[in-house]
Amino acid sequence: MHCVSTARLFCHWKSVNRQMKDAKNFCSFAIAREVKMEPDGRCTVFLDRDGVINVDSRHYIKNSREFHFIQGSAGAMALFTDAGWDIIVVTNQSGIGRGIIKKEDLGAIFSKMEQGTKEAGASIKDIFHCPHTPWHGCRCRKPAPGMIMDAVEKHNIDLSRSVMVGDSVKDIECGRAAGCAFSVLVLTGNGEESLSVLKGRGTPPDMVARDLLEAAEVIISMERAGLFIYGRGRATDTH
Ligand SMILES: [Mg+2]
Ligand SMILES: [Zn+2]
Repeated sequence: MHCVSTARLFCHWKSVNRQMKDAKNFCSFAIAREVKMEPDGRCTVFLDRDGVINVDSRHYIKNSREFHFIQGSAGAMALFTDAGWDIIVVTNQSGIGRGIIKKEDLGAIFSKMEQGTKEAGASIKDIFHCPHTPWHGCRCRKPAPGMIMDAVEKHNIDLSRSVMVGDSVKDIECGRAAGCAFSVLVLTGNGEESLSVLKGRGTPPDMVARDLLEAAEVIISMERAGLFIYGRGRATDTH
């Protein structure tokens, strides 16, 4: 690693207040820590799909007709694109391994997602999915970090400038296992339930946002202000 600057970074586990839209306000209640990070380079946001980008279903999203954007999510992705962030979708799709979702239908769902986000002005750099069931014991099903590690390898991503956003306990654990700068729980999808589970375990998410739009606004404004957040990843905590 070359030329690292010491930047003042922040982490916190409290819910992001709806009014906390700008970085200054946000940081006023965050916990400051000194960590080392690369001074520049592209940022990457890893997004879970179901419950973050689109409305989730207990019965799986089996075809493109069942895929519906959560209000504001495509616009949120456009904010990331406009801000120069790379967007990579990492999604568990055990419905494939369970024989509930056909591969060609999954492809059609991804096409619909890409088309809708493109129309909103966003660009998805790549999509990684795990088709396995929990009993496969694969390396890619979240909370395992395999999909993120594959993305890092393929696209030469700087994990210290990356964020994981999801609505499940598995997403937060995956972001941490991979070494993302921090992990954000959104309260859409399974978010509310996941928040109580994570708090109960004593491992709350680094940040909580109402939805992907709020997450995007806060993450981007903090990065712009040079106040990138560090969570429990591989940060070098000097305090
Ligand atoms: Mg999800
Ligand atoms: Zn897998």
